[in-house]
Amino acid sequence: MKSGIRPGGLWVFCEQSESGVRSVSFELLGQAARLAPAMKTAVTAVLVGGTGTGARAASLAAYGADSALCVEDDALNRPDELRCAGELAALVEAYRPAALLLGATAFGRSLAPRLAARLNTGLTADCTALDVDPNTGLLLQTRPAFGGNIMATIVCLDSRPQMATVRPKVFAAPAPDPTRRCAVVVERPAAPESPVELIERIAAGGEINIGDADVLVSVGQGIGGAENIALAKRIAKALRGALSASRPMVDAGLIPYARQVGQTGKTVSPRLYIALGISGAVQHMAGVAAQTIVAVNTDPDAPIFRYAHYAVRCDCGAFLRETLEKLGG
Ligand SMILES: Cc1cc2nc3c(=O)[nH]c(=O)nc-3n(C[C@H](O)[C@H](O)[C@H](O)COP(=O)(O)OP(=O)(O)OC[C@H]3O[C@@H](n4cnc5c(N)ncnc54)[C@H](O)[C@@H]3O)c2cc1C
Repeated sequence: MKSGIRPGGLWVFCEQSESGVRSVSFELLGQAARLAPAMKTAVTAVLVGGTGTGARAASLAAYGADSALCVEDDALNRPDELRCAGELAALVEAYRPAALLLGATAFGRSLAPRLAARLNTGLTADCTALDVDPNTGLLLQTRPAFGGNIMATIVCLDSRPQMATVRPKVFAAPAPDPTRRCAVVVERPAAPESPVELIERIAAGGEINIGDADVLVSVGQGIGGAENIALAKRIAKALRGALSASRPMVDAGLIPYARQVGQTGKTVSPRLYIALGISGAVQHMAGVAAQTIVAVNTDPDAPIFRYAHYAVRCDCGAFLRETLEKLGG
């Protein structure tokens, strides 16, 4: 066993993109650093990638990694999920971590079940909360269940590692501490080549990522037609924000899926979330982690008012017109 990485660790798989380590990895490292003392263990950042991966791994100490473990090789520049699962499985078998957290990105959602199946262990997908049982030191993995009507806390009793994916933006990333350092262990690839040949990756064109927006103006079934959606768009633009929506608006083909907020859409954490004609169903609110929520609704008993910091009881159309006038647009 190489120095710094003991069996029973709490691992965070840190996914990389062309622009570096994905931000969900920082969020997960922050959570892992919070949980590790109760699990009586240390945090290891785990990376699989091409040249430069080791150097990137070292920088993750700032976000809470006590050590880093990477497989670095030119052939792993942009590994597909099968290859990545093979490399991670080899690392898990060699170092025996207690738990492994992954981001529920498109790649993570494809990777995690393949890896869990290879390791013959359980996987809790799309967790919205993580904790540790103080008596057993086991990971408490909470996620919506039964269509979002209950929150289920899942424990993996016997199999190892305990595996969970967490959506981007569910947790805030910690402020980096540039004084922290960690040991980096670099391994050679161990898995056989993937049977998959990745020919090209084509990014979805033109759509913004509402998960990155600072201000979201979100429309629901009470918005009152295309004319009001256009006004909501103008307000979003005036506030340098973006338009988002509840699921029925997407199902009706009025708004593209990339802009859906909620359990089956995106998790968002803007500074300001303006909910227009949205009732506040649990499946919608499961995706809203905003600092300030302004809710506009005609129904005084609408559940959204339980979450709202500012409750505006009026018709969306009237609110939109008056707000646009105040914004000078
Ligand atoms: C498994 C599952 C997953 C789901 N995932 C998602 C998800 O990811 N995202 C999501 O959004 N939903 C999701 N849903 C659907 C969710 O349960 C709700 O049905 C949905 O969020 C309701 O959308 P809404 O608030 O736009 O519409 P409604 O619930 O119909 O609410 C419309 C609101 O507008 C108000 N209103 C009406 N007229 C006006 C007016 N003139 N001015 C102001 N207010 C007005 C009404 O009082 C009402 O509160 C999911 C459901 C299931 C079962």
